[in-house]
Amino acid sequence: MLAASLIPTEVAGVGVLNSAFEAVVGGLRASVLGFAEPEDVRAFHVPPVISRALLERLGYVDAFPNLLGTLHTFVGDNRRWRAIQAARLADGADWHSEQTISDVVALPATCYHLYPLVAGRTLAGPMTMTAEASCYRHEGSSELGRLRSFRMREVVRIGSPDDVPRWRDEWLARTRTWFEGLGLKVSVEAATDPFFGDAARMMAPPQRQEELKWELRADLGTGQAQAIASANYHKDHFGGLFGILIDGDVAHTACAAYGLERIVLALIAVHGDSPARWPAFVRGALGLGGTTR
Ligand code: AMP
Ligand code: ZN
Repeated sequence: MLAASLIPTEVAGVGVLNSAFEAVVGGLRASVLGFAEPEDVRAFHVPPVISRALLERLGYVDAFPNLLGTLHTFVGDNRRWRAIQAARLADGADWHSEQTISDVVALPATCYHLYPLVAGRTLAGPMTMTAEASCYRHEGSSELGRLRSFRMREVVRIGSPDDVPRWRDEWLARTRTWFEGLGLKVSVEAATDPFFGDAARMMAPPQRQEELKWELRADLGTGQAQAIASANYHKDHFGGLFGILIDGDVAHTACAAYGLERIVLALIAVHGDSPARWPAFVRGALGLGGTTR
């Protein structure tokens, strides 16, 4: 089944969403902000692009070179451009080779914008930040729910080695209960990131052994469960890279992500393609009005 409210475009994994789909996204956003976080969460709006040099320093390029979307632009003058156009018209020459790589790349995960906000700081106590962004990943397949452009709301916790895993466990439990309250059946599974090439051999085994990544998976109607939310515990990785201290030690971090389109697709798989006809308890929980029409 292809959800009618996720309208395909001429490129795979890039969809246009109709207003019914988007109303559910709005309901999820409000509901997440309402339940997931104490009042002291710091909320930000972050852009869909980020420093290429930053992602290189963080190791993203080494781990996921195949997923990263780079941006290019033409930097020459008008004369050069005219020459390129003439060559294009004459012999179909390719203008792409005249493009220069930009200092920004497409944002692959929302949380990369958040750690730098506290770089070099000594925290008096644990801190929670949240943001949502359009993310881009150059996915190699495009089954339902595997988009290249999708929205990821994330919550980042920065704290002591005691605090952060405890927060992660609580988040997993609360989020599971929240999904069940929306009528979704979810499984909670230890997972690994889709590291590329040699990085997979080096990074996936410790990630699995130490149970650093957890996914909440639901069926999107394809018969195969996909992650609709996930939590990553980075231990002192980002705290060290960004020089964040707490209690005189390097801070630990975790991030928890909600894949908004995937959650809507999971809801559609269970309750049907028309949110107007979803059960009252689901519509009520999402602020869509409690009545079933
Ligand atoms: P990850 O960083 O891979 O754990 O992704 C965080 C969350 O974003 C996942 O739990 C999914 O809900 C969502 N997500 C990841 N990749 C995609 C994708 N290609 N299309 C749609 N949602 C995605
Ligand atoms: Zn993250």
